[in-house]
Amino acid sequence: MAKIIDGKTVSASVKQKVADECAELFKTTGKKPGLAVIIVGDDPASKVYVNNKKKACELVGFLSKEYALPAQTTQQELMELVEKLNNDDEINGILCQLPLPKHLDEKAVIEAISPKKDVDAFHAVNVGKIMIGDYDFLPCTPAGVMELLAYYNIDIEGKECVVLGRSNIVGKPMSMLLLHKNGTVTICHSRTKNLAEVCKRADILVAAVGIAKFVTADMVKENAVVIDVGINRMDNGKLCGDVDFENVQNVASYITPVPGGVGPMTIATLMKNTLTAFKIQNKLA
Ligand code: NAD
Repeated sequence: MAKIIDGKTVSASVKQKVADECAELFKTTGKKPGLAVIIVGDDPASKVYVNNKKKACELVGFLSKEYALPAQTTQQELMELVEKLNNDDEINGILCQLPLPKHLDEKAVIEAISPKKDVDAFHAVNVGKIMIGDYDFLPCTPAGVMELLAYYNIDIEGKECVVLGRSNIVGKPMSMLLLHKNGTVTICHSRTKNLAEVCKRADILVAAVGIAKFVTADMVKENAVVIDVGINRMDNGKLCGDVDFENVQNVASYITPVPGGVGPMTIATLMKNTLTAFKIQNKLA
């Protein structure tokens, strides 16, 4: 039976470290890291995420500002807000909750955020820096996965790592981070042939496809480490990952549950990134 990777515990320990450092820095600078979160429209899932981010900011002692804009906000209004926050010294990190309503250009918004305040690490400058392995911020979810692997002393070097999904937010950066740790990385996507066979080679399998219970036990090698990034809402309202947890836990050596696995790590990394941004902007790092 696989050991359960407990994202809640690891996330709490990361947030505690951030809170301790934040309190120390406040003693010497009299300043707090500030995170601005922009949300446009009424998407219920986005509202939950934004609320969780706000709570995390309060917990670690950050200043948090929420900008809840109506669904009919124009591109120009949104760009003006980003520009204002880029120039606000109290704000060290800016996050625009995605997805945006269809009439808004997400790419333009991401590119308008100053790379120094881009704590999601979505800006092309930060993506490029990650590619060459010389970065200030890592994208929150893949970095959270790496933190989990480190916490459980799971060695990546020389291991067969298979990442399911090639999105800019999860799959691609995830692959790059595993590569930086000397994993042998294969990226799979919707056009991959013999997917089950490829998955079965993995010592470390990361699922980020967005399809409930996509990874079944027959796709998993005995004693593999299985990381489930997926968050899917079932008809009964419950959350479910991309992995068939009930059956895969009998094959894997380690497995993340959903909820309580990767999810809490995303916010913990966001707090870490905001602290890093604060230190860089105040020349403390
Ligand atoms: P996405 O839709 O942008 O990307 C999905 C990827 O899966 C694509 O690259 C696609 O090629 C691949 N895919 C789709 N169908 C496939 C198939 N049949 N076979 C193989 N590959 C297939 O999604 P995303 O933003 O990367 O998110 C993936 C999942 O992770 C979602 O469930 C999302 O909710 C979740 N997520 C969780 C967190 C977290 O904090 N835990 C953060 C971001 C995303």
